[in-house]
Amino acid sequence: MSLKAEKFKSRFLQLSVGQTLSNMGVYKELLTLLSEDEIDKLAEENVYFSQTCSPSGIMTLSNVPACESMKLITIEMTYLRMFLPEEVTGILLHEIGHAFNPDKQKMEGEFAADNFAKEKGYSKWIVSGLKKGLDKKLVGFDKETIDQRIKNLNG
Ligand SMILES: [Zn+2]
Repeated sequence: MSLKAEKFKSRFLQLSVGQTLSNMGVYKELLTLLSEDEIDKLAEENVYFSQTCSPSGIMTLSNVPACESMKLITIEMTYLRMFLPEEVTGILLHEIGHAFNPDKQKMEGEFAADNFAKEKGYSKWIVSGLKKGLDKKLVGFDKETIDQRIKNLNG
């Protein structure tokens, strides 16, 4: 395994998350899309991928014994399987975009996160994922916010 691949693997709190993403083809795609500098940045910011009961999001844990703070990009697999692998990659790039823009809040934060995915060529998959979430009336998919995000992604 290359050093870059080792570093990326170390970002996963549970092997099962990486394994499920591997089966979807998402793991390898993310590893290809992210530069080694970006993976180093994830490590510097203590960003980890972890399993949870919400579809996708990011949380900051404070006063964790091992470090001052840790950010978890959370993944709920059953929920995520409603999306195409490309849409899942887009969703995770969006969350990485949040991790790289901690100072941006609310819509500014959403745009910054979307722009990171857009830079990687995933705007159309973000848009299709957002439309799917809206169609399926998934929790956290608010029409007004999504319309603004789609306008930004298509702009
Ligand atoms: Zn977001």
